[in-house]
Amino acid sequence: MEMLRSDVDPLEAVKFMRTHLTPFDSFYLEEIKNLAGCVLWIGRLDESPYADLLSSAKWDKLAEDFTEKFLGLLGQSTTCPLTTVCNVGARNLPLLSSLRRIVGDKEEWESIESLPLYNETDAGEECNFHSVFVCKECREMATDVNPPILLPCHHTLCWNTVTRLSWGGARLFMCPFCCHEIHLNQCLQLHV
Ligand SMILES: [Zn+2]
Ligand SMILES: [Zn+2]
Repeated sequence: MEMLRSDVDPLEAVKFMRTHLTPFDSFYLEEIKNLAGCVLWIGRLDESPYADLLSSAKWDKLAEDFTEKFLGLLGQSTTCPLTTVCNVGARNLPLLSSLRRIVGDKEEWESIESLPLYNETDAGEECNFHSVFVCKECREMATDVNPPILLPCHHTLCWNTVTRLSWGGARLFMCPFCCHEIHLNQCLQLHV
């Protein structure tokens, strides 16, 4: 783009494209074609049909994308972790304070591993990094030790519920949603 905006020799620009962009033409053919069209407008790109390539909004978006990809490669978040914690905490303060009223000031508050009520805390869509499965039968959220299980009728339950209903695989059981009769070995573990 820098070359196209300057008054570089068009042949230089074509040479650059051949060397550096041709290897990507199977993925970005349309974009490369547009850039090739730009060569005809070198030095007066802002008057060309491709003028929107210069729009500052596009460049800002590009800078954001690069930052996001770069931080992704480093395994880091694009937002400051402290900001995220404050935002999620502030959003959930009403829920946490009502739970505190229920639990009171008992010592258990510090030692409990999960909240005493079934109540999903809402971290906002921007913080949903993984899909979440909640079993409709026991309302437990799936974990590594209690994964979602796909039944042959295409309904899904958690592992604990499936083993409970099937007496550990000893009996046939009925799907709670459609009454399909199922044996444990017809079920398939899902990964979320
Ligand atoms: Zn369950
Ligand atoms: Zn079913």
